[in-house]
Amino acid sequence: MAQHSIALKERKAVADGTELFVFEKPEGFQYKAGQYVALIVPKIAGVETDTKGLARSFSLTSAPCEPILSFTMRSGESAFKKTCWQLAIGDTVTITDPVGFFTLPPTEDTRPIVFLAGGIGITPVRSMLKQAESEKSQRQFTLLYANRFPKDVTFHEDIKKLSLKNLRYVTVLSQSTEPCASSDDERGYIDEAIIEKYVDDVQGSLYYIVGSPEFIGAMETMLTRLGVPKEQCKKDSFTGLRAQSGK
Ligand SMILES: Cc1cc2nc3c(=O)[nH]c(=O)nc-3n(C[C@H](O)[C@H](O)[C@H](O)COP(=O)(O)OP(=O)(O)OC[C@H]3O[C@@H](n4cnc5c(N)ncnc54)[C@H](O)[C@@H]3O)c2cc1C
Repeated sequence: MAQHSIALKERKAVADGTELFVFEKPEGFQYKAGQYVALIVPKIAGVETDTKGLARSFSLTSAPCEPILSFTMRSGESAFKKTCWQLAIGDTVTITDPVGFFTLPPTEDTRPIVFLAGGIGITPVRSMLKQAESEKSQRQFTLLYANRFPKDVTFHEDIKKLSLKNLRYVTVLSQSTEPCASSDDERGYIDEAIIEKYVDDVQGSLYYIVGSPEFIGAMETMLTRLGVPKEQCKKDSFTGLRAQSGK
């Protein structure tokens, strides 16, 4: 598989302990919204290494219509994450060609799409919605976005600003007594009642589930209880990502 060396152009915090890394896009690099790559960071002098190595899988946060490539990640204690947090503008990392099938169906398939995203699982969803906006998509989208607190909600303003005619965006906060400003907002976990409240055609929609393996398992069990056929559920399991707990 081809590898590409890409230079960091910009980085910024986009939620609590969550960083957006923006890179130059190599000439001819093509991908579909929702795909991912392996990201390999260089050894930086003074940053410790560990047995887990310096490569991880990352969904592209950027959309194919954008002139850059971007990735977004939660901070962590691994050598990989510590190295990422030391990256300076102009530093280069290596990525592989994009892979994965967590992508939207062709436009002829007009079934409504329901995204069930947990935490940093928002990354491929942001890419798909941004691309859909650039294509002036008329498709019905519902995004149910689960987090613990408002500070964990990533790309909140970006998503609210999207000019998609048929996007319904709902934040679902499990451990907050405060609302998530100016969006439809629920307390607790994404469950049958929330699905039935916000999804018009529960059994006829396509579900895109993305987040930690624990989140995916919980969503699959719930959709089975609602009678949604397995063939209508696409999954993007962020293996390696541990479910968050506490504050
Ligand atoms: C398709 C896909 C897309 C993803 N997209 C994103 C994204 O957009 N943003 C994001 O933040 N995360 C994403 N992840 C998760 C990401 O790849 C990391 O697993 C996650 O960020 C945690 O990394 P860490 O270094 O903090 O955790 P760590 O727990 O330190 O490392 C996790 C990784 O190390 C491996 N590992 C654990 N122990 C060992 C060991 N002893 N020896 C060797 N390997 C070991 C695990 O298999 C796992 O790959 C994605 C994962 C997948 C599969």
